[in-house]
Amino acid sequence: MSDAASKSELFFHKAADHLGLSARMRTLLLTPERDVKVQVAIRLDNGEIETFVGYRVQHDSARGPMKGGLRYHPQVDDAEVRTLAQLMTWKTAVVDLPYGGAKGGIAIDPRTLSRAELERLTRKFVDQIHDMVGPDTDIPAPDMGTNAQVMAWFMNQYQKHHGFQPACVTGKPLELHGCEGREEATGRGVVIVTERMFHRLGQKLAGKTVALQGFGNVGSHCANLLFERGARVVAITDQQGGVQNPAGLDIPALMPYVKEHDGVAGFPGGKPLSNEELFSAPVDVLIPAALGGQLTAETAPTVQAKYVVEAANDPTTPEADEIFLKKGITVVPDILANAGGVSVSYFEWVQNRSVVHWPLEEIRSRLETRMSSAFDAVWQIANEKQVPLRTAAYILGIGRVARATELAGVS
Ligand code: NAD
Repeated sequence: MSDAASKSELFFHKAADHLGLSARMRTLLLTPERDVKVQVAIRLDNGEIETFVGYRVQHDSARGPMKGGLRYHPQVDDAEVRTLAQLMTWKTAVVDLPYGGAKGGIAIDPRTLSRAELERLTRKFVDQIHDMVGPDTDIPAPDMGTNAQVMAWFMNQYQKHHGFQPACVTGKPLELHGCEGREEATGRGVVIVTERMFHRLGQKLAGKTVALQGFGNVGSHCANLLFERGARVVAITDQQGGVQNPAGLDIPALMPYVKEHDGVAGFPGGKPLSNEELFSAPVDVLIPAALGGQLTAETAPTVQAKYVVEAANDPTTPEADEIFLKKGITVVPDILANAGGVSVSYFEWVQNRSVVHWPLEEIRSRLETRMSSAFDAVWQIANEKQVPLRTAAYILGIGRVARATELAGVS
């Protein structure tokens, strides 16, 4: 087992200790059901053949078909995909979806490919894994570096093998069996749980200051809703650079700027900012919404925020988690904070299977209810057992998966 995978399992074992899980049950829950690595070779626009590696890890199906994103990023490797697949199992259980967990990806920077190359890459990957995914087994969705267009190509290619199956993937465009509000869902869910936390603490989200790493799908929608609900987003970084304004960044103006300039750097409504400065910004809330492993033994001691809300998957190392605990910083963990995306993916899957279309207001209201009740359940466990929110969320998620596993039995 790689170091990265074993480190992330520390969180698992803390909760498993509270649940009194046996060593055999722990091994069963930690071992992926299937772990696949495939060759994805395509012809580039210049006629050359380029070979990439594609991954799909199906971690656990005790509670239903496995669900998890598809990531196109240069850092994708065995250990990362395995860790993220496992997180999906606990996450779907925390928000009580009838799903297990999976994850996949290709080690590629999608910005280096043309649109036609990206389409060929996606179709070739589907050809390689189509017999192991599907609406009843494993349903991919967008993640870093992928979007609704990639999901549309995915569905189209899958259907060439299996006929009409819109529920084979979620996060599709609205014109192709997609769901209202899917794109904003993860960012919206992050804001719902952040607001819920302040409500529980007898405080208000409005007026709070926020620093945000990442302004892609999750970060931009998160910033937009924070702005709408009266919080002040004062610092943002992305892959190209950063921007800060202590008075609060004008998010409605920043959104079109980023579309045009491919990043937040140079936005006229603020001053430049580095990632290091972002982490140590004097704000109420820090929201990592980019890569994993950003809050580490090096960066965590500099954090001044009182609250960290993990919009990204796996952004905090166990060392950093300990540092936050000692500093009295409350962390809303990824498997709760960013579960809005998979929740609305579930709504999309339900609509596809029933051939119905729900309006945006219904999606938003269902999301608000699901995220708020998941937050409340985690909050209650944290208070009852006097544990941090992360351990409480793991206790809730792992407990549900363990019980389903025991009830189903192993033949
Ligand atoms: P995205 O590709 O749309 O955006 C990623 C953002 O991160 C971009 O702004 C990029 O510039 C920035 N970034 C990349 N490397 C960076 C670096 N070194 N420093 C600072 N910024 C950097 O991806 P996304 O879908 O918004 O996903 C972001 C995170 O949220 C990931 O951890 C992903 O796993 C997680 N997540 C996404 C979803 C979803 O529905 N898209 C759901 C749950 C969790």
